[in-house]
Amino acid sequence: MLKGKNALITGSTSGMGLATAKALANEGCNVMINGFAPPGVPERLCKEISSESGVKVLYSSADLSKPEEARKIVADAIEGLGSVDILFNNAGLQFVAPITEFPDDRWDYLTSVMLDSVFHATKAALPGMISRGWGRIINTSSVHGIVASPHKPAYIAAKHGVAGLTKAVALEVAEAGVTCNAIGPGLTLTDVILKQLPAQAKIHNCSEEEALKKVFLAQTPTRRAIEPEEIAGTVVFLCSEAAKSITGTMIMIDGGYTAR
Ligand code: NAD
Repeated sequence: MLKGKNALITGSTSGMGLATAKALANEGCNVMINGFAPPGVPERLCKEISSESGVKVLYSSADLSKPEEARKIVADAIEGLGSVDILFNNAGLQFVAPITEFPDDRWDYLTSVMLDSVFHATKAALPGMISRGWGRIINTSSVHGIVASPHKPAYIAAKHGVAGLTKAVALEVAEAGVTCNAIGPGLTLTDVILKQLPAQAKIHNCSEEEALKKVFLAQTPTRRAIEPEEIAGTVVFLCSEAAKSITGTMIMIDGGYTAR
């Protein structure tokens, strides 16, 4: 069913976005990937994905903190692929500081990448989806879209905002064959986490594996980090025919974190 559909996946030069780009490509979707990466890496990723799956793979370097680029990436995907049938709004980053010391520019940057860009890209992609009577929008929220923890005000505000925006969009397009859902990952093994492990292991005088359990997974009932491929599997499911009546919801992929 997904064969021949065109998917735009923001924040997909690494982590769960990249895993999802590969998974959708393996389902037969043409994909546009996006995100920051060292020179040469995006071209290598495009080649790898397309030679493995045989689909068309394009890259956009759009900086989604800029509204005009969040709009243009959709126009570029439509021009390059022919349409945007699936929009996975996934780009994101973290910044940690107490609110009284939280730099204003970090607040603006994080909320523009993780909330404002979702609005701009969705607004640009919806008319085509509505006119074709089919579309899938999936937004990456987080466990921090429904609960909070200290020192992450911008991230938590953006991820809560995305959860609300998801419901608002879902209601507006419910009769048009377009679904809009959020995913709520818990701790997922991507660069953001992997980069912090050596320092945490040093601080706690333990192995990186122990640091992962002690520091990052202490509140996770499964005590296991989520693999990016598990996130990709959920996104592919949400794009499928079987999920056509699932809209306006947030699927938690969090090892039970928010069940407490
Ligand atoms: P990641 O760092 O591997 O991926 C983030 C992607 O976003 C990268 O491709 C990066 O280049 C891109 N990006 C960042 N700023 C951008 C900008 N201004 N414009 C365009 N692209 C930009 O990390 P990940 O864990 O795969 O993160 C993907 C999403 O999942 C994010 O929204 C993140 O908040 C969310 N998330 C992650 C976890 C986790 O534990 N890893 C948990 C819950 C939610």
